[in-house]
Amino acid sequence: MKARKIASVIGCRLRRFYCTRMQAIHFNGNELHAVSRRRPRPRRGEAVVRVNLAGICSTDLEIAKGYMEFTGIPGHEFIGTVVSSPVERLVGSRVVGEINVPCGTCSLCRRGLEKHCASRSVLGISGRDGAFAEYLTLPAANLHEVPPEVSDEEAVFTEPLAAACEIPERAGIDSGSTVAVLGDGRLAAQVLAMKARNVTVFGISAAKLAVIRKFGVCSRDASETARFVKRFDVVVECTGSPEGLPAAVELVTPRGTIVLKSTCAGKLAWNTAGIVIDEVTIVGSRCGPFDAALRLLERKEVKVRKLLTAVYTFEKWREAFKHARRRESFKVCIRMS
Ligand SMILES: [Zn+2]
Ligand SMILES: [Zn+2]
Repeated sequence: MKARKIASVIGCRLRRFYCTRMQAIHFNGNELHAVSRRRPRPRRGEAVVRVNLAGICSTDLEIAKGYMEFTGIPGHEFIGTVVSSPVERLVGSRVVGEINVPCGTCSLCRRGLEKHCASRSVLGISGRDGAFAEYLTLPAANLHEVPPEVSDEEAVFTEPLAAACEIPERAGIDSGSTVAVLGDGRLAAQVLAMKARNVTVFGISAAKLAVIRKFGVCSRDASETARFVKRFDVVVECTGSPEGLPAAVELVTPRGTIVLKSTCAGKLAWNTAGIVIDEVTIVGSRCGPFDAALRLLERKEVKVRKLLTAVYTFEKWREAFKHARRRESFKVCIRMS
């Protein structure tokens, strides 16, 4: 009798233990590995989200090389379902989430520049575990409900599409601007082509360039850039490499604007005189408006399904990362739950 009681207590504790655990991908400063972790507990104002799909971004690949000196669970592109939330109506909803979690009280936050708050944490990038896990927490205020017309496979593109929507704002692009996109700017190319008539993408993967051409955007091999020196009013640098900026300086017209998108772990030493001589403006661009991105996805104005290279199960996460590193890959996702 006593033995049965002990067994039942142990069984109960084991069940409770496993119910509070989750699987995740962790970066320990050297390498990525699969871990079993305690599910995150929400802080005040936070919701718990069960992650359906998480996208691998070039920033994640850079984090795995030491970018931001981040350790923890990476991943910031996701679609999930709200499990608990201080905002009742969100429970059970499919959501995407803005990645910056600001303090809300500093002078930058009070000026509406929350994404630049010095004490912010950033989902899966700085001071906060991210989306390569079965569960994550974010303030309920960061979450956006996904319209039923947008599938999980489309919604996982919301965060990078929002970032692409910010580029025309940062560069002041109008319909007459000549615009070059350097590198894998497949979302940027589509958003920019809605604003400007003359957009050219320069890339290194023939397969990727062919897909971009199908969106009606002119695309050329990067080896052709020599024919276009100082020809573009705006050059958007999305190469994911420190060499992208010098290449952009070659293409931009005097008094033109370069929009830097790449976040790299690597450094570069080079002569910056061309920027001064041609009075070039360089602006960085990071996160953008989720509402605008979700509207574009809902109206199917930006096509993302062709950009979904592959979806892997959690068990095959190593293969997913390997696939994401391949030159011809657009977006590789992991199904987290
Ligand atoms: Zn990203
Ligand atoms: Zn702040």
